[in-house]
Parts: sequence; C-alpha cells; structure tokens
Amino acid sequence: MTQIHLIGFCILIVYPQVMVRFTVLASGSKGNASVLTAGRTRILIDAGISCRELFRRMMLVDEDPATLSAILITHEHADHINGLAVTARKLGIPVFFTEATHRAWVRQLTPRKRMTYADWLAEQRRLKAEAEFNATLAETNNETSIGLSDAEALESEEALDAAQELVEEELAETAAAEEAASQPNRIPSRAENPAWLPTVEYFTAGVPFTLGDASISPFTIPHDAADPVGFVFEAEGVRLAIATDLGYIPPNVKAALRNLDLLQIESNHDLEMLRDGPYPWSVKQRVLSRVGHLSNDATGEFLENEYDGGATYVILAHLSESNNLPDLARVTAERALSNHASLLSNRLLIASQHEPMSSIRF
Ligand SMILES: [Zn+2]
Ligand SMILES: [Zn+2]
Repeated sequence: MTQIHLIGFCILIVYPQVMVRFTVLASGSKGNASVLTAGRTRILIDAGISCRELFRRMMLVDEDPATLSAILITHEHADHINGLAVTARKLGIPVFFTEATHRAWVRQLTPRKRMTYADWLAEQRRLKAEAEFNATLAETNNETSIGLSDAEALESEEALDAAQELVEEELAETAAAEEAASQPNRIPSRAENPAWLPTVEYFTAGVPFTLGDASISPFTIPHDAADPVGFVFEAEGVRLAIATDLGYIPPNVKAALRNLDLLQIESNHDLEMLRDGPYPWSVKQRVLSRVGHLSNDATGEFLENEYDGGATYVILAHLSESNNLPDLARVTAERALSNHASLLSNRLLIASQHEPMSSIRF
C-alpha cells in the first residue's frame, strides 16, 4: 500500500506503508511462534520458544518485541507455551487464552509437591542426561528404538533455555518475596506463583473478538489438549488463518479456511517415516489419531479436494523433524495444488523450526 504525503510546497514523499505483515518465527515440535502486525496492533501467536530466542528472532526480521500488544495462545502444549510466562512478564502485555487452556496451563506450572523452578530445572537436566546416556547405550547396542520421552528430552535444548530464564526470574524475585511474606494481608508474589501473568483475557472458540486493529475468529480443532483452537485473522481486508496441531480437518475447520489470503496449515509427518520411525507404537498411535497431527497426505487431500485455492500464500507448518522431510511435505502439497486452476497465484512455503521465515507483507 502506498501513501502520498504533501509536505511544504510541492515536495512529494512516497513511502510504502505495510498495514498487514505476518512472520513465522518458529514452527515444529520444539517450539512455535508467529507474529502478526495489523495496523497499530502487533500480536504474538504462541510463545513456544524461550523469550530470549523469541526476541532474537523478532529482531532478525525487524520486529521490535517492545511493540507487541498481546499474546494469543492456541493450546497448552509445551511447544506453544514454553516462553510464555517470561515473555508476558517482561513486556507486561495481556495473554489471551480460552479459560480451559489457561486452567490447564496453570495446572502444568503448579507442581503437586512444592518445587522451585531451580529444583525443576535440575530434575529436567537429570532426565536429559539420563536420556542421552540411554540413547548412547541404545546406539552401542545397535538398537534403533528409543522412547518418546527420551527423544523429547534429547530435543529439549530450547525448553531448558526457557526454564533457565524462569530460574533467573525466580532468583531475582526471591528476596522481594521473602520480604513480602512477612507482611499481613499480602497478595501472593510473582515468585510464589509461577503462573502469574500481568493480564489474562479469555476468549471462546467460535466467538469472534477484536484486538486493536485485528478481528480474530478462534475455531475449535481436534487435538489432545484442554480446549485447542486455530485462528482466522482479518485486518485491512486481508484474511489469514493458522491451523496446526489437529488430528483431522472437521467441517468447522474447513469452513474457517475459506476465502483466505494466507493459509498456515500443518503438514506434520510422512506416514511411512512415522510408521518406520523410532517412536514407540503408543506414541505413533497418538500422532496418527483423530486428536494427533495432520500427515502430509491428509493435508494434501485437503488442499486437493476442499481448499478453495484462493490464498496467495500457503505455509506448510509444524513439520516433525523425526518423521518428515521438507521435500516430502512440499512434493505432496505441490501435487495436490497442481489440480487447482489458481496454482500460479499460490506460493507454497515451508516454515522452519530453527529460523524465522521472511516476513509476508500485504
Ligand atoms: Zn499440540
Ligand atoms: Zn504443537
């Protein structure tokens, strides 16, 4: 969009004014986050990488973290919320959840036995070391199978980074908390409440709401979390949707994913790679189930038979590093889209786990 300003006598300054901008900062089982700029509103969708890494990636794509207006959460799985508490506290911005997702997140952060973040982090490091030892042992014994918890622990560098940040916060706040504890009628401090957030706002799946210059329509997705959602965003006549972490595509999701300018959709695994891969059978069953993740084939089938072909950008997202290859996901989606007359207007992109995508501007 171009705006023309007249300054003084006949001096024309022409500059591009990007009103809607979308960037995937991270996508995959080790962490998810995207940022949407709509006019004066800047929204972070999920905070599944550490705050430090989130800020680093935002700076890489010229998005200033200090200008974020709010954080929106799809569901409470670790790869979507790992950096949430620190990011929201650091920026002092509201977090939007469904009530059930917020409760599930609070439960996750409130251990049954009193455990400090430092204790928790030590425990995680112990589990990780154990998993690495087991993996080495498995390799030595020429075994190919390791459990998912081991695989997850091996892939948890970013989760530990996020936890380390919480420990640093905890240490900084302990002194203040101790002082506050001696006062009567005090409000529990941040250090005493790991789920403390500056502001919590609730939305309901199926009920659209407005956040600054963006209209947001959350829709229910079939996934094994408390109340998981995808989002359709509308701003300046541009429609964008995020639909990842879903076992299949039910009618309400198909209805939401129409008339889009940008579609970010999951293409999680290749069926053969998953079947032949290292996960235990129970975990394979979970991924394949109606509340698991979309395979390349399932996404391809949607793109071929249900998708209206109208989006300028189709982003394949949440690719599994253990059970997928970007080329497999791309080829399957390209084959599906090739039956669309509007293929030429569709740009197929693959979201990455380890680096932000180039910003998409409308
Ligand atoms: Zn999930
Ligand atoms: Zn996920």
